[in-house]
Amino acid sequence: MLNDTIAAIATPLGEGAIGIVRVSGPDAIDIASKLFVSRTGVDWRRQGSHRLFYGLVVDPANGQPVDEVLLGVMYAPRTFTREDVVEFNCHGGIVPLRRTLELVLQHGARLAEPGEFTRRAFLNGRLDLAQAESILDIIRAKTEAGLQVAMSLLAGELSSWVHAFQDQLLGLVAQVEASIDFPEEGIEEATREELIQAVRTIIDQLEELLRQARYGKVYREGLRTVIVGRPNVGKSSLLNSLLREKRAIVTEIPGTTRDIIEEVVNVRGIPIRLADTAGLRKTDDVVERIGVERSRELVKMADLVLVVLDASTGLTDEDRSVLELVRGQKGIILVNKSDIGDGQALAREVERLAPDKPVKVISVKTGEGLGQVEEAIEQMVLGGQAIASELPLVSHVRHKQVLARCHEHLQEVQRALCAGENLDLVAIDLRAAWEVLGEITGTTVAEDIVDRIFRDFCIGK
Ligand code: GDP
Repeated sequence: MLNDTIAAIATPLGEGAIGIVRVSGPDAIDIASKLFVSRTGVDWRRQGSHRLFYGLVVDPANGQPVDEVLLGVMYAPRTFTREDVVEFNCHGGIVPLRRTLELVLQHGARLAEPGEFTRRAFLNGRLDLAQAESILDIIRAKTEAGLQVAMSLLAGELSSWVHAFQDQLLGLVAQVEASIDFPEEGIEEATREELIQAVRTIIDQLEELLRQARYGKVYREGLRTVIVGRPNVGKSSLLNSLLREKRAIVTEIPGTTRDIIEEVVNVRGIPIRLADTAGLRKTDDVVERIGVERSRELVKMADLVLVVLDASTGLTDEDRSVLELVRGQKGIILVNKSDIGDGQALAREVERLAPDKPVKVISVKTGEGLGQVEEAIEQMVLGGQAIASELPLVSHVRHKQVLARCHEHLQEVQRALCAGENLDLVAIDLRAAWEVLGEITGTTVAEDIVDRIFRDFCIGK
């Protein structure tokens, strides 16, 4: 329903300097007229759009002032939702915000669902679906680089690419269909060759985009990381040094049984997510504490493992079992305490044992080698390959899946063309490739997918 008026508290509940009750829809202005009393005596309804007015929210039932506010008034269509919007900038306390919201709801608005303001922005053409998704990314960005990726999505970089790509595909569809419409002219070998070339170019671009999607995901979601090693090698010291110097944010992940505390450290713009580090800090040995099974699970789930060894003691059987535990896993081996042991000798020994992982000699105590660790993490994430900046960075799994489906259709096109098959079939797959891309921008997307996307949003967004 787009002809009703929605309202919600748009700021986090708690104590703050200000809190905002946002109202959007055809009755927004009327509702404000019933509740807002200007303190300066201006007739705010005659003052034009995008203005702030100083006054009181007053309960019309008893004339009692509820809060002193600034009322923001924005008329359609130049608003986020493309509808009339008013925002009550209240004092940031739970009671004034709740009371103001209640009054707004009593006077004609209904409580907005999660993400409903953004959903209206999408339905009213203010944003496409990918841009709408970027808004949650901006809110949740963990590092500046993550924010940049989100901002480029909001700016429509991926969307523009999709449009351009769809244009190219439509051009091919037209070419193929022209050949179908005039079968007597047959399709010349040259035309088929030309089509094959054109499709090849498109597939190449798509593959590049998909290859880079890995990095986009990391910037958006962060890299799940665990630190492993036997007791006393310096895991907690490493963790604390990372947290001291690089801590980005601490977030709570709501879990089924309990909330996990997650700390995010910022390593060269890459959000490194260390889950439940409080727990890690309490005990020396993760493997001991949670048992081999559970730690195997933890390690398996991780995108990156940091294995810590101790140069002052040399390699022990316990170290060997830790190395065994992380076999096949993406990771970096850190030979710690190089200030009191022969780090290089141990590093050489370990390189033979675990040739698939880079080995870095470090000392958490003196800080030696820590820069190299950052470099290694960056190298691991970016794979040493430069990101082609003219292509947008795909950061959502949903977008990546759409691109993968588009890729499948195009490969089918390529196969059919090379095999000299009927052009009707080629046209069908070309059209399918075009259509599937529209799921990114939302032009051809199913309602339930849209529902799912906005369900993740908070109320008031
Ligand atoms: P964990 O059991 O693996 O978490 O190890 P800790 O971080 O608790 O460190 C064990 C001991 O090693 C502590 O006394 C640390 O101060 C010390 N330690 C950690 N890193 C270094 C280092 O680079 N050089 C030296 N000399 N000592 C270190």
